[in-house]
Amino acid sequence: MSDYDRIEDARLQKALATHLGHIIGADLISDQVALGIAKKVRAERVHGLSPKQEWVFQTKVLEPFCQPKCWRCGAPIDLEEGWDFESGEVNELCSSCRSDWEGMQ
Ligand SMILES: [Zn+2]
Repeated sequence: MSDYDRIEDARLQKALATHLGHIIGADLISDQVALGIAKKVRAERVHGLSPKQEWVFQTKVLEPFCQPKCWRCGAPIDLEEGWDFESGEVNELCSSCRSDWEGMQ
């Protein structure tokens, strides 16, 4: 792993941990097993999960809650912008559509 990758990985892990904190706080994960794994990842980062835990995390936490896409243009939304603090939900508008949208109101 290059230094750049290491920094990039650390940045993503931190963004993921922050994002998981919002999701856990908002009680979005109803599956107790998935919730436990999400809490573990939030505290200890994603490394160290068993293959089964990784699968549960991928299908029940990452895919539904941590890979937001813009409903308007379909662009993936950066995890650092993945939480909408105003509505308390996963953000579903990318920053460029959001500024267009706000311009229209
Ligand atoms: Zn968009």
